Amino acid sequence: MTSPIRRPLIAGNWKMHLTLAQSVDLAKAVCDATKDSPAEVAVCVPFTALTVVSAVVKGTHVRLGGQNLYWEPQGAFTGEVSAGQLVDAGATHVIIGHSERRRLFGDTDEAVNRKLKAALAAKLIPIVCVGETLDERQSNQTFRVLETQMAGGLKGFAPADVSSVVVAYEPVWAIGTGVTATPAQAQEAHLFLRKQAAKLYGEGFAAGLRLLYGGSVTAENVDNLMAQPDLDGALVGGASLKAPAFARIARFQVEAKA
Ligand code: PEP
Repeated sequence: MTSPIRRPLIAGNWKMHLTLAQSVDLAKAVCDATKDSPAEVAVCVPFTALTVVSAVVKGTHVRLGGQNLYWEPQGAFTGEVSAGQLVDAGATHVIIGHSERRRLFGDTDEAVNRKLKAALAAKLIPIVCVGETLDERQSNQTFRVLETQMAGGLKGFAPADVSSVVVAYEPVWAIGTGVTATPAQAQEAHLFLRKQAAKLYGEGFAAGLRLLYGGSVTAENVDNLMAQPDLDGALVGGASLKAPAFARIARFQVEAKA
C-alpha cells in the first residue's frame, strides 16, 4: 500500500541512448503521456541532452535528472560534470552509484558518499543505487552487500540533511536482463534497506525514505511490484525509452495497493 508520507517516484534512466532530436521527442511524449500520473515523474538523461530536455520539461510536472556527477565544484577534472553544472543545466535529480558506474567505472562506496554530499549541497534530489550481483545473491551475501553499500554511501550526514535522499534497490542480475525480482524478493530487500536506514538515521528518516525498485520493470510487472508496502517507485531503464510503456509504469495502479 502506498505510504501517505512517501510520494511515489518513477524515474527513467535513459543511459547512453538517443540523439538530441530523439531526446526532445521522447521528453515531449513523456510530458503528455504522464500528465495523470499519481507519482513524481523524472527523466535522467545524458549530460549532452540536459539543456534541450530542460527546455521541454520546464513548467511541466516532469523533473529532470543527471545520471552521475563529480564531487568537486569545478576545476581540472576532464570529462567530469559537477553538481552545480547539473543544476545550471536544469536538473533537479541525479542518479548516484548506478551499478554500471560501480562495475564499469570503478565507483566505490566512498565515491558514492562524496557524490552524495555534493548533490545534497547543490539541493539535487539524489537517487542512490544499491544492489547485489547474482553471485552475491546465490552465496547469500545480499543483505551484507546492501548493508555495506547503504552504510558506506550514506555515512556522515546529519539526519536533517538526508531527508531528500532516495535509494534505489537495483539487483544487478535484474538490470537490463529481462529478469525481474519477484515482488517478494523486492519487498524483502526494501524492508531490509528501511531497517538499515533506521539504524543510520533513525525511525523518522526510515519512515520517510523513498525506496525505488529497479531491474527490468515493465508496464506488465509494475503493478505487482508496486503492490508491495515498501516499494515507493521505480527506476526504469529500457522501458523508459518508449513513452507509452513509461507512462503506463508511471500510472501504476495505486488501487491495486489498497
Ligand atoms: C537501470 O538502468 O537502472 C535499470 C533498472 O535498467 P532496466 O530497467 O533496463 O533493467
